[in-house]
Amino acid sequence: MLKYLSLTAALLSRCELLPDDVVKAVSDIVGKRNVTTDLIDRISYSKSCSVDESGVPACIVTPRSADEVSRILKIANNNEIPIFVWGRGTAFVPLSVPENCILLDMANMNKMLKVDEETMSVTVDAGVVWAAVNSILRKRGFELPVQGGGALVSCTVGGSIASSAVPHGITGGGTTGDSVLNLEVVLPSGETLWTGSAANPSGTPFERYCFGPDLTGLFIGSCGAFGVITKATLKIEKIPDEEDFACYSFKNYEHAYKAALEIQKNRLARFLVLVQGSLPVKAEALMHIIVTSKEGETAKLLEEIRTICLAYGGVEEDTTGTRNYWRSHNVMYSWLRWEDPKEYYRRGDIPVFCPEASGFLTFSGLLKLTKLFWEYWSKLKNSKYSPILKGFDIYYSRNGGYLWIDILFSLLDPGALDFGLKVRSTLYEMLLSCGGAPATIGGGEHAKKIMSRLGAYYRVLKLIKRSLDPKNILNPGALGL
Ligand SMILES: Cc1cc2nc3c(=O)[nH]c(=O)nc-3n(C[C@H](O)[C@H](O)[C@H](O)COP(=O)(O)OP(=O)(O)OC[C@H]3O[C@@H](n4cnc5c(N)ncnc54)[C@H](O)[C@@H]3O)c2cc1C
Repeated sequence: MLKYLSLTAALLSRCELLPDDVVKAVSDIVGKRNVTTDLIDRISYSKSCSVDESGVPACIVTPRSADEVSRILKIANNNEIPIFVWGRGTAFVPLSVPENCILLDMANMNKMLKVDEETMSVTVDAGVVWAAVNSILRKRGFELPVQGGGALVSCTVGGSIASSAVPHGITGGGTTGDSVLNLEVVLPSGETLWTGSAANPSGTPFERYCFGPDLTGLFIGSCGAFGVITKATLKIEKIPDEEDFACYSFKNYEHAYKAALEIQKNRLARFLVLVQGSLPVKAEALMHIIVTSKEGETAKLLEEIRTICLAYGGVEEDTTGTRNYWRSHNVMYSWLRWEDPKEYYRRGDIPVFCPEASGFLTFSGLLKLTKLFWEYWSKLKNSKYSPILKGFDIYYSRNGGYLWIDILFSLLDPGALDFGLKVRSTLYEMLLSCGGAPATIGGGEHAKKIMSRLGAYYRVLKLIKRSLDPKNILNPGALGL
């Protein structure tokens, strides 16, 4: 109890309110019911799915339009008050909400605006969640090629684009950014622009690569550093006629990697996920394969996959977990290990945290890192903090795989937090030394450590940030800029 009282006291001492005239000006724009300075609300927004420390905002605002976002950014600029954009706070990387900022919660910008069957695209507000868009599309016979991050029911389209989330279905559908055609963005100055073909005042959002460089790409993965995404136009596809599943276990993970590479090279799978760590079968790796196709073609695809897997020593397994993983829309990761979601992240009644490490790797990079990781884990698992390895999972992309390392520590163990964050740093060092490339960067020191090793690339991003946001108002610290 004492611990919680002192925590609250510490938070209270950090909380300052904005000048009254600023709160009034913001309330005049969005309406009083869309602004809160209540302490309980502010504290709630200082906590996301990331385990890292974050600041407590001074004020939470839920704008309803790009125009409102623009006017708030102008006020923030005039008064030099930091702004932070909040999707649903589901990112695992440090978000670095600045202390005493105005936090823009995008939840009120949640409309699906237009399904365009001529250009095969859908335009949505940035605060809408993926599962909502997809379920409406499916009623009309369409679907999204991929759906943002894995938290489909909770993460927003804008947040997933800004964090370049690695989506469900990346093997065949590409990454989140590959589905984005055009974006409406409010720049830190408050000016609003459309990217791509929609930049033409007489145009519509349908083509990304036009009018010179790909400005859409500047905002994908930007973690909100360069602008607030307010609308997005995404590609849509017809729902495939057929969908089917396969699952193979492998006694040897290297053989599984080779089989995955063959499947990938031949473009046979819509989604290919390989899991290691605690498995429901006696094997080093379990491969889940989802295939979709036109009528009458899945059987052939599955047969080709079977030939490849058997050639590498794969053993056919039950596909119930694979099917549930693909079709259920809630905490579906447990199904990769044939477990019910309810029990998956429990460690008795102890709350746990996951200092996630993840990134893209080539086939050779994956092999190299896997060897390094198992050596490291053989020592780490005996550490006094009793870590649990939940996942060493690879989501195969078009040119490699996205590795996600999910190690759990107890939140109640004194010292476990610092230790867990050190483990994360070590894992990122390993990942980068094997040529890895993280997709979601986040903010703060964590981001700076990753980005500052990129030389001219990092310097160019800093220059862009400085010219778009000279007062460093918007998401300061995002991408370590
Ligand atoms: C159960 C679960 C499963 C997950 N699975 C995956 C997965 O498979 N793959 C994956 O990549 N991630 C995964 N994640 C992490 C997370 O869901 C994604 O990173 C997600 O896309 C973040 O979306 P969000 O709306 O919550 O954004 P937030 O977490 O709120 O924000 C992320 C970043 O984007 C910025 N931002 C948010 N909205 C905007 C906007 N409109 N304009 C500009 N910047 C903005 C924020 O400032 C922040 O820097 C998972 C999380 C959970 C809880």
